[in-house]
Amino acid sequence: MRVNTLKRAAVAFALALPGAAIASVVAAPAAHADGCYTWQRTLNQGRSGDDVRQLQIRVAGWAGSGGIVRIDGRYGPETAAAVRRFQSAYGLRSDGIAGPQTFNKLYQLQDNDCTPAHFSYGELDDGCGRGGFSGGPLSADQTKANALRTMWKLEALRRGLGDQPLNVTSGFRSTACNRQIGGASDSQHRYGDAADLTSRTRSLCQIARESRTHGFSGILGPGYPDHDTHVHVDSRRENNSDRTANQTSWSAPDCGVGSGN
Ligand code: ZN
Repeated sequence: MRVNTLKRAAVAFALALPGAAIASVVAAPAAHADGCYTWQRTLNQGRSGDDVRQLQIRVAGWAGSGGIVRIDGRYGPETAAAVRRFQSAYGLRSDGIAGPQTFNKLYQLQDNDCTPAHFSYGELDDGCGRGGFSGGPLSADQTKANALRTMWKLEALRRGLGDQPLNVTSGFRSTACNRQIGGASDSQHRYGDAADLTSRTRSLCQIARESRTHGFSGILGPGYPDHDTHVHVDSRRENNSDRTANQTSWSAPDCGVGSGN
């Protein structure tokens, strides 16, 4: 569907600029050669490299119950299991090997800026309207990278909920923004790896429960103070800082969600 949309856009562009645009339309890249990233080899257990790392970022939302996928560039059992879950979620042969079928699905899902199809940097950037990813404890680049990883998990969560739209009501918050809106002083939002979620088609409890299988080590929802109107998810266990809050912490008592369940 997105490819058709792109084709239509390309045709409209060509019609608007006869002649000049023809060459670029003819050379329009196929879905697999987008502006973000192209894998050059099949990946399986035992491989390592930046291409593995790029894969891990995109399948980290398929970590399974309570799991996380370490973004370490090494294709171990947890990466293979995540690839299997990704494959099965999208109707592909589930063999844990990332080859052309798996990459093509990822190309379909990723935009030119590497964000997944249904989420954008604009939805995750500074929550007080300033935009961008600066003003937190990490560099803007690190924060933005965390936001990207969060978005791929959100894409997996969205799929897990049956392709239901998720609304991000708060993503990254600079330290000033976080203070302004009264967020917890050690809030994960300041690192770019948290999102507050609502949905018009799924209950908050459905979101909180489903989040448990999509790589989120932090889940706060209904029944947890100040979380009756949204579900907060984050990746505190993977956070690349030396803070102590690196344990799994789930609490949505009204949904039966707690650490250990
Ligand atoms: Zn939150």
